Amino acid sequence: MNACPELETLMVGVAEHDADALAHLRSCPDCAFLAEEHRQLEKDLTRLVDPLPPVDFVRSVMARVALEPAPVRLELRTGLSILAVTLMGATLAFVATHGSLGLLGTHAASAIVVWRNFFFGASEALAAVWSTAALPLAVAMAGIVVMSTLGVRRLAAHRVVEAQVRP
Ligand SMILES: [Zn+2]
Repeated sequence: MNACPELETLMVGVAEHDADALAHLRSCPDCAFLAEEHRQLEKDLTRLVDPLPPVDFVRSVMARVALEPAPVRLELRTGLSILAVTLMGATLAFVATHGSLGLLGTHAASAIVVWRNFFFGASEALAAVWSTAALPLAVAMAGIVVMSTLGVRRLAAHRVVEAQVRP
């Protein structure tokens, strides 16, 4: 049996496709085992330097992304609906008290007149405030919008925390 070469010499020979080195690896299980171990160790060291992401990395990240925005979407939808209702209320109040009906079609205008009679009682008080303090009223309405949005945000955040605590 041939004397075993140094492992380093053997590995260099294998890397250079040296016929003698390859022949020895085939005929000597000890060196074949050592060479395989050496290869695995080199592979592990390379992975330490440049770690590969897990095979399903992208899939797991996308799964998390799909899970995460749900509360945000809910929060946004609730906030937007409250915003819409508040803005609608502000618009209706404005139209009832100061709105220029000529800007709208006659059909819409008559509908608004009907609506205006219906809500006249409530809008009369608002009209008085509006005629004397239009700017403060607008600021107050904007404040209501912001406050309701913030309230919904806090509510949604609280719900998320609750959902995370619950198993
Ligand atoms: Zn050997």
